[in-house]
Amino acid sequence: MRYYKQIIEDIKKKNLYRFLKPIKDRTCKYITVNDKEYIDFSSNDYLGYSEHPALKKVAVDAINKFGTGSTASRLLSGDSELMHTLESAIADFKGKESGLVFNSGYQANLGLISSLANDKDVIFSDKLNHASMIDGSILSGAKLIRYRHNDMAHLETLVKKHRSFYNKALIITESVFSMEGDFASLNEIVDIKKKYDIEILVDEAHATGLYGKKGAGLIEKFNLTDKIDYIMGTFGKALGSFGAYFVSSKEVIEYMINSCRSFIFTTALPPSVIAVNIKAIELITKEKDKRTILISRADSLRKNLSEGGFEIRGESNIIPILIKDIEKTIKLAELIREKGFWALPIRPPAVPDDESRIRISLTYNHDDDIIRKFTEQLLYLKKCLNI
Ligand SMILES: *Cc1c(COP(=O)(O)O)cnc(C)c1O
Repeated sequence: MRYYKQIIEDIKKKNLYRFLKPIKDRTCKYITVNDKEYIDFSSNDYLGYSEHPALKKVAVDAINKFGTGSTASRLLSGDSELMHTLESAIADFKGKESGLVFNSGYQANLGLISSLANDKDVIFSDKLNHASMIDGSILSGAKLIRYRHNDMAHLETLVKKHRSFYNKALIITESVFSMEGDFASLNEIVDIKKKYDIEILVDEAHATGLYGKKGAGLIEKFNLTDKIDYIMGTFGKALGSFGAYFVSSKEVIEYMINSCRSFIFTTALPPSVIAVNIKAIELITKEKDKRTILISRADSLRKNLSEGGFEIRGESNIIPILIKDIEKTIKLAELIREKGFWALPIRPPAVPDDESRIRISLTYNHDDDIIRKFTEQLLYLKKCLNI
């Protein structure tokens, strides 16, 4: 036990201590923490769907009809017609032949990547990929080679050097990156795939619900659905619920049902969650205005902050404000929180040394008035802290 105490002390000394912050209440715009109200700038509820009246209603209806739990794993008696409706809906929405639902994005990546590659294969992974993609790669036993973030020349150099020594090769990338808020160079990745006989898995966690005509994601926006072998994403972000999906060909889905351990050895999602996910997909296609408004507000917030002298990255509603110095980052986050805005500092090891930042995720709940007040406060604090 003393061993862990020492580790915690060391973490605190490095300014890297993490702790939980229980939220007492949550309404559309505000969260209440320690009896103080904040506007939440760190939620992934991009379209405000976690409180959508139509989604609440289908959740309650499903509980009344089917109960609170699914009672078993899918291959025992936890499977349901409702689940198959969801899997068809997500496959249609994403434009692929078949779909499979997982209990979370983390579990999906862990199981999918470790099923798609083995110790005779090689995985090329963007350096900024989500932890679940790294963990899935390690679990697969494949050779893991990480390329510099979105650096296609670096990716191709590594592919040229290593590809021929392995049986199968897989490129894995997020489409909208969770810490940088930028887009993967999917067109170039597809070119490299064709040239060197490689498969691609794309994680659309942050893109699902926001991009493309239907709102299916960045792959839809770039018109690349047929060229990407494996697509996954989560229902826990813009869709306001929980769980994750994987879409691909019928054979690949059948293979996963028979081999993917994080699919097989876990209780199926509760009926209420499944029902919400079905409805959320339907709403995304219908409520196009919400994503259009959010994207245009994000564009103008990024522009205003950069004109105010901040270093801003990305091209989405995830907006990293680079402060670099760890202490200044923490101080700015603290002060902006005192003003009633819940925006958290991101520090190493989540980002490289020297790249500490405040990460804003803009949602549909942030109207023009909130965004204006938030921008004013940030620019004022920037002066005070001499950033
Ligand atoms: C959030 C996230 C996940 C994990 O999804 P959960 O459903 O929250 O487990 C996976 N990949 C990326 C890129 C994410 O941002």
